[in-house]
Amino acid sequence: QELPADPITENYVRQVENACFSFVTPTKTTNPQILHVSPEMLENLGLSKDDSQTEKFKNVFTGNEVLPDTQPYAMCYGGHQFGNWAGQLGDGRAINLTEIIHNNQRWAIQLKGAGKTPYSRTADGLAVLRSSIREYLCSEAMFHLGVPTTRALSLALSGDSVLRDMLYNGNPAYEKGAIVSRIAPSFLRFGNYQILAVRNDVPTLKTLVDYTIKHFYVELGTPSKETYLQFFKKVAENSLEMVIHWQRVGFVHGVMNTDNMSILGLTIDYGPYGWLEGYDYGWTPNTTDSQHKRYRYGNQPNIVLWNLYQLANALYPLIGETEGLEAILSDFGTSFEKKYLNMMRSKIGLFTENENDQKLIQELENNLHLTETDMTIFYRNLSQFEKDKPEQGTVNIQEAFYNSIEEFPKITEAWNKWFESYSQRLLLEKETDTERAEKMNLVNPKYVLRNYMAQLAIDAADKGDYSLIDQLFNLLKNPYSEQENMKKWFAKRPDWARNKVGCSM
Ligand code: AMP
Ligand code: MG
Ligand code: MG
Repeated sequence: QELPADPITENYVRQVENACFSFVTPTKTTNPQILHVSPEMLENLGLSKDDSQTEKFKNVFTGNEVLPDTQPYAMCYGGHQFGNWAGQLGDGRAINLTEIIHNNQRWAIQLKGAGKTPYSRTADGLAVLRSSIREYLCSEAMFHLGVPTTRALSLALSGDSVLRDMLYNGNPAYEKGAIVSRIAPSFLRFGNYQILAVRNDVPTLKTLVDYTIKHFYVELGTPSKETYLQFFKKVAENSLEMVIHWQRVGFVHGVMNTDNMSILGLTIDYGPYGWLEGYDYGWTPNTTDSQHKRYRYGNQPNIVLWNLYQLANALYPLIGETEGLEAILSDFGTSFEKKYLNMMRSKIGLFTENENDQKLIQELENNLHLTETDMTIFYRNLSQFEKDKPEQGTVNIQEAFYNSIEEFPKITEAWNKWFESYSQRLLLEKETDTERAEKMNLVNPKYVLRNYMAQLAIDAADKGDYSLIDQLFNLLKNPYSEQENMKKWFAKRPDWARNKVGCSM
């Protein structure tokens, strides 16, 4: 088997065959500057605050210094983009520096935006400040929300400017270049396995799957056809778990291509993601997906399943029969229904099961679609509901409506009816109103990274003011707590921010 390409002489854009990765060297930058560091991640990696203030830290986490005895590398993967096989993609602007084990936990350390790799295709291998702020803030926020995710250690400016293919007053727009160091046990994606299967490189596929099981699904034991099947089952379970959390907090990924699906069921690749403001199954933050809306909020679970079919195809050569894989795939639907129902029960404070719950929740979701209704504010305020005052229900939640419903008697009527059923249903639960509110407030966040909040932090940072990054970072560490002095972030999206969302580059 061929060795991965030589890091010095063969770091050119190409098809990389018979390998899972290529050695690469991060590109040096003009004037690196660390803008923010995650104290939680520092601790996880066994680093101190003092460490993070050294020149060495700055140089290592911006790709300007390679640690001794490490060999940075970029991974080879392919993927289905918007439903079509796209061939080799790979880490076009991500470079794994090394992996460390601290407190028995393995962490891969990766720089995003540190220069070209053999997988950069026609692009520059760089990242801009705005998308880097979005990834840095959101991945740590998701962790604190309890959603499985890749993490971030640091956010830095490279000191270089980056040309993006958009015009500003007819001139090409240069933006500040940035580098995020992101961290996860592994950054392996469905696409890493797919590319090997598509190329019919079964020996390398087996090597990679065995490696994955050995390090990340170790409980499955020694490789065999049965182990591979169990591996697929675990990946399906982890992916399901992840998407249920997305639906719970109102996170819309935006680009659920198979190259953006983690083999560990982590939320990975924060591009044009967005947070639901108005509760809307049809909403997507991705403007390039505005026609088919393949990756809309309500479709995310279906897409996870679609992506699992692609992974099943990739693993098939190691298993040699379809029965087992198909059984796992067909279980997904039923598992989803069950888990989704329980998750929704917890959001409305039901902790026992009743056969009518499905209907109650369906009616709730129908109502939420009647007029633009802020998801986060709705669920948070629902916890103030008093079970013997159904007529007060609409008053509790009125703050969530983007437009007053007073002039729409049918909407008011639908809500009154729902609160009547909800009130009846709550009689079957043992919690007092206060106890129920406490429990609900642990699953319904008060603070999420609304799209306009990230945008405000980006606009300030563009002018050299990084204080809002820090403020939001700290706010989102405790998304379920009241934080009295931070109430201004518990508010509906302001008018100027309507339809102004995300960015992917
Ligand atoms: P994404 O849409 O972010 O999942 O990226 C899809 C593919 O494009 C991946 O292979 C990325 O590595 C690659 N890519 C995205 N942006 C860049 C860039 N600026 N330079 C090189 N490759 C990129
Ligand atoms: Mg990607
Ligand atoms: Mg991306």
